Amino acid sequence: MASSTLYPPLSIEGWTVLITGASAGIGLAAARRFAEAGSRLVLVARRAERLEQLKEELQAQYKVDVHNVVADLSVASQVERLAAELPPAFQEVDILLNNAGLALGTAPVQAMASSDAVGMISTNVTAVVILTRELSKGMVERNRGHIINVSSIAGHTAYPGGSVYCGTKHFVNGFTDCARHDLVGTAVRVSAISPGAVNTEFSTVRYKGDKSKADAVYAGIVPLNADDIADNILYAATRPLHVQVGDIVVFATNQSGPQSIARILLEKSKE
Ligand code: NAP
Repeated sequence: MASSTLYPPLSIEGWTVLITGASAGIGLAAARRFAEAGSRLVLVARRAERLEQLKEELQAQYKVDVHNVVADLSVASQVERLAAELPPAFQEVDILLNNAGLALGTAPVQAMASSDAVGMISTNVTAVVILTRELSKGMVERNRGHIINVSSIAGHTAYPGGSVYCGTKHFVNGFTDCARHDLVGTAVRVSAISPGAVNTEFSTVRYKGDKSKADAVYAGIVPLNADDIADNILYAATRPLHVQVGDIVVFATNQSGPQSIARILLEKSKE
């Protein structure tokens, strides 16, 4: 099929892209896609070794510049430091991908552990707010920039056992919309990506290493994978500059809500 010339993708070659949560899952897949597009990368996560491996891979395969930052994004002072200490060659961030995040447990609201609740609130909210503030200033001055926040379908709807995770993702959506209002008179675009179930380390983290519980989340369907979401992210990032994607809500074909999953493959295997 001949490719359309109606919307040639925006070239982001040479653009500087800062990705939080680049050591696994969606952030890692997005790092590969941005590198393929020729972008220069700042990769952030806690697991230094994973970041180092990815840096080596991307430099070798795509010949792009990569700078790694090892930081705990749930700690405001570490987030502020990472923004303040970017090396000169990486200071002019063009695309901020606020992706790092997690869910911890599925306890009902009357029984959740404080450490889980605080862990989710601090991880899913702190860096989104501080990095947006720190990096949007320069974007406005340079008249170019895009903030892309990875939210969730949990930011659009609620489900039992998801109170704090849903709350943080509703926050991300509210914050994203407010930031878009604040930046409306500028060239800076603000987008959200809201995936349904994606098969990453997310459920292993949520169930604290219980592999059988984690696997059960994705059993009986073909779930989304990290590359599917990276594709959505790249779509938003490479629209022409007058096009601002507000939110991409994306489900696996056999999912229609957080707990509405038709486990067809599982039923078939029992036949
Ligand atoms: P993942 O495979 O567990 O990856 C999470 C990433 O976030 C890792 O790179 C992790 O790196 C980083 N991270 C977590 N806590 C951090 C902290 N305190 N400081 C720095 N980095 C931290 O999960 P994923 O599915 O790719 O999740 C990415 C985003 O997608 C999250 O915001 C999540 O809420 C959202 N999402 C996921 C799904 C899903 O079903 N998977 C659905 C909707 C939305 P380190 O551990 O190395 O620090």
